[in-house]
Amino acid sequence: MKIGVIGLQGAVSEHTEIINKAMRELDLEGKAFWLQEASQLSEVNGIIIPGGESTTIGRLMSTSGIFEKVKEMGRRGMPILGTCAGLILLAKEGDEEVEKTGQPLLNLMDMRITRNAFGRQRESFEVNLDIPAFGERPFRCVFIRAPAIEEVWSTVGVLAGYRGKIVAAKQENLVALAFHPELTDDTRAHKYFLNLCAASK
Ligand code: GLN
Repeated sequence: MKIGVIGLQGAVSEHTEIINKAMRELDLEGKAFWLQEASQLSEVNGIIIPGGESTTIGRLMSTSGIFEKVKEMGRRGMPILGTCAGLILLAKEGDEEVEKTGQPLLNLMDMRITRNAFGRQRESFEVNLDIPAFGERPFRCVFIRAPAIEEVWSTVGVLAGYRGKIVAAKQENLVALAFHPELTDDTRAHKYFLNLCAASK
């Protein structure tokens, strides 16, 4: 199993490391790698769009030809995990900030998002949240200038909420997390994603 982490900007190596750890724990053969060219997409069983700056990641994905290809693959059922900035890119609808910057979205998940949803004063914080899909124990969530999901429709399922906002959701092959699961050593979020990749292989 090969998981490509879009490696153009943002928290990339943290994802490859924790995916590799999660694979060992699940006894799965394979590895995660930095995906920097569109041609590498032909070998993946799953894609991770990391946190970082969504405008920058989106722009670099477009110029490298990755953007259009990922959009097509996502439509056809390729498992994609978007964390933080990656969650923004997965959405069909953004807020005024997204409109103002003319930032392109992958237009895959039926949800409307807000960038920097938790305010500038609280740029980053950590909180334990109940995310039943990841198991019984609460999950330590690291939020960094995090977005949130304001509204979902169609077949999107809510996995977790915080302060009246949705911070984790899933729609078929797509998983969106507003926080950074790669910044803890808890592999449960990545295992959840890997199980999705294994099932669709
Ligand atoms: N605030 C960033 C954005 O809007 C996302 C932050 C992150 O990925 N940690 O792109």
